[in-house]
Amino acid sequence: MEFETVIGLEIHAQMKTKSKIFCGCSIAFGAPPNTHTCPVCLGMPGSLPVLNRKVVESAIKLGLATDCTLNRDNRFARKNYFYPDLPKGYQISQFDLPICEHGQIDIEVEGQSRKTIGITRIHMEEDAGKLVHDEREPLSYVDLNRAGTPLLEIVSEPDLRSPQEAVAYLKKLHAIVRYLDICDGNMQEGSFRCDANISLRPVGQKELGTRTELKNMNSFRNVQLALEYEIRRQRDLLLEGGKVIQQTLLWDPDRNQTESMRGKEEAHDYRYFPDPDLVPVVLDEAWIEILRQQLPELPDKRRLRFSRDFELGDYDAEILTASRDLADYFEAAYREFGNAKKLSNFIGTELLREYGPEQIGACPVRPVQLARLLLLIEEGKISGKIAKTVFVEMLATGTDPEQIVKAKGLVQMSDEGELIAKVREIIAANPEQLQQYREGKTKVIGFFVGQLMQKTKGQANPQLANKLFLQELNG
Ligand code: ADP
Ligand code: MG
Ligand code: ZN
Repeated sequence: MEFETVIGLEIHAQMKTKSKIFCGCSIAFGAPPNTHTCPVCLGMPGSLPVLNRKVVESAIKLGLATDCTLNRDNRFARKNYFYPDLPKGYQISQFDLPICEHGQIDIEVEGQSRKTIGITRIHMEEDAGKLVHDEREPLSYVDLNRAGTPLLEIVSEPDLRSPQEAVAYLKKLHAIVRYLDICDGNMQEGSFRCDANISLRPVGQKELGTRTELKNMNSFRNVQLALEYEIRRQRDLLLEGGKVIQQTLLWDPDRNQTESMRGKEEAHDYRYFPDPDLVPVVLDEAWIEILRQQLPELPDKRRLRFSRDFELGDYDAEILTASRDLADYFEAAYREFGNAKKLSNFIGTELLREYGPEQIGACPVRPVQLARLLLLIEEGKISGKIAKTVFVEMLATGTDPEQIVKAKGLVQMSDEGELIAKVREIIAANPEQLQQYREGKTKVIGFFVGQLMQKTKGQANPQLANKLFLQELNG
């Protein structure tokens, strides 16, 4: 029997605000436990929440960027459950009237045509605190610094059909929140995290199969691995005639498997109801317009412009626009060095190997310096191979390429007189290869050029070397 995979993601993105969603406490990561707290986020009786305007602004921006309908009148609701890291006994979230609904984004998976994925809703909510378990003692600590941290939860339609599509969707949303600058996107620190719902159904069947939910995976790779594992597990189960049990699973990255966290029978009834402490959120048209004007060029648009204006392939354009910083970097370097294809190749291999799209800001080589390095190749001053070594040095020290080339004497040897003696020496020292050449094995020219490169530590101009050997061997 053939199965089709169905996946829907719930993503939590932490907003990049100064203060929490309903009080003035800081949301800075890593402060000593319980130092960023006040009566509101500690859930003291009688304290009242006041909504952070910046959170609403961020939600509107994300809603606009993902083609959502903005609910001009939306509401906060209490989601009731008991947990030690939730001092109020309820989480303030949104339920039947979220701020954004019915959106969509496009994804690309290599070898597939572009696909639109529906966004069911985006809502604002507060994060809970954190439990710190001490393994040496039978006790746990509660740190409420994180309680009240603003989150946007983005819920997708069950439109994704493979782990690759799920990761592409996650990456696209990650790029969008980073372009909008509303979330720092740090997955290790949990600023951008995802729960994946996954089920299988026989190909052709309309109704959805029973799903499991994979919790809190903190890297793109873990999402991919966990979903692949869960597909295998569910398929084996179904093929044996078994049933998938609806449950919440945790991905264990060390053991490469999922484990049960809780079953459906323990599922909560959250008894949602409108929060009486908060007035409805009414969105002003003029405000929405101002925010619309402020939207940056988003990844899809920028990718299209890159492939059109710089005549780059889809794949290259996609990579270069994966982050705003990388796309800015490329454009700045392009202004100095006008060959987009060569620039894109160098960035794709040499630069991105060391700095990911999100880390470009920390790269000590400025775009202008990279452009000047590539110009040195164009001008025939250094070979492409030498350029790579120079670049390694630039990455380590931030030094200008000209300075490194000069200090290390790496200038390409493009002078015939300088090379011809070495060419003759090499031919004389290798009679066997010379004989082969005379017998028609013209490929041995590669061997001769290689010898010269070795002798000159890669500094001989390769075109010139070729020409000189041909001239000497045929002369
Ligand atoms: P809950 O509130 O219990 O988490 P939702 O109905 O809101 O459940 O769905 C949460 C996510 O699960 C959504 O992204 C949705 O697309 C996805 N989903 C729902 N049913 C299925 C299913 N049978 N298989 C895969 N994903 C599903
Ligand atoms: Mg869920
Ligand atoms: Zn507080």
